Amino acid sequence: MGSVLIAGAGGFIGGHLMNTLLDQGHSVIAVDIKPLEKWFQKPSGAQTIVYDLREKFDFRKFDQVESIFNLAADMGGMGFIESNKAACMLSVLVNTNLLISAQKENIERYFFASSACVYSQYHQEKLDFIPLKESDAYPAMPEDGYGWEKLFSERMCRHFFEDFKLETRVARFHNVYGPFGTYEGGREKAPAAICRKIAQAKISGNHEIEVWGDGKQKRSFMWIDDCIRGILDVMNMNFRDPINLGSAETVSINELVSFVEEIAGIKVKKNYVLNAPQGVRARTSDNTRFREQYGWEPDTELKVGIEKTFRWIYDDLVKKS
Ligand code: NAD
Repeated sequence: MGSVLIAGAGGFIGGHLMNTLLDQGHSVIAVDIKPLEKWFQKPSGAQTIVYDLREKFDFRKFDQVESIFNLAADMGGMGFIESNKAACMLSVLVNTNLLISAQKENIERYFFASSACVYSQYHQEKLDFIPLKESDAYPAMPEDGYGWEKLFSERMCRHFFEDFKLETRVARFHNVYGPFGTYEGGREKAPAAICRKIAQAKISGNHEIEVWGDGKQKRSFMWIDDCIRGILDVMNMNFRDPINLGSAETVSINELVSFVEEIAGIKVKKNYVLNAPQGVRARTSDNTRFREQYGWEPDTELKVGIEKTFRWIYDDLVKKS
């Protein structure tokens, strides 16, 4: 059995995927641009490489690589992607170089982590939303910068199959959350940011938090274990078109705050920052195609996953203080 290469193994989803594959007995080559001490999870048992994958990457130096999971991207929540569009688009180099190497070295399978940000903004402007189905990505008007890079990279995967018979798989993740991810510093996404703000409020006794936007914007959030199970199904089965990988449980940001307040056992005063980046008005995943293909869908209740996420962030903040 050859090795599995995970690009972005030092990150949130890549770290969870790495440990799942190691637990399953795979030989893992874990690559990330970050120095090892900054990886979210310890790569014990994996062969680790610190490397900027925007540069060409020569697999031949390593064990036989059988498959590649590309989870490497310069990204973050709305606050990051709205003000770093060029940086987000440069992740196209990671996908390009990995696809070229995968084709040259006859890799069996290639997975690309796409995003719900590929969906046309026109479908996401109103609060009475319709869940996004895969065809809604066209005619294209994705999130500027980050979304265009994801859509372009999806199409590159498609054409590497059509022209070179490289088996590519693409999943469009809808907001993933869980422990061992970014929760401060500017790249964090809403669930981690809200958990961190309420944890800090509990620790400091100052029960006021900032909420970006008016709190009415709606989203769905996928628990990390569902995401990892979904990635492995998408990779291992034979469906090649881009497919949603997300939860259909849809909540407003105000409801998300209420869930976290309940877990933390405090009430906070919400100060709405109306000019902060907040993305589209409403977005959730239509899982019809996913259910048809894989016979299940990501359905861990937000209350269950967010409790574990809050506890991890709270404990981490206490440890650091
Ligand atoms: P993350 O930022 O925690 O992980 C990405 C990792 O890629 C980081 O560790 C980063 O250092 C690494 N990386 C970036 N540029 C690199 C480079 N040039 N060379 C090598 N490594 C590089 O993000 P994540 O949440 O784990 O996301 C993983 C993938 O899933 C990304 O492609 C992201 O766009 C996609 N995605 C995530 C979400 C989500 O909610 N987390 C939603 C949609 C799509």
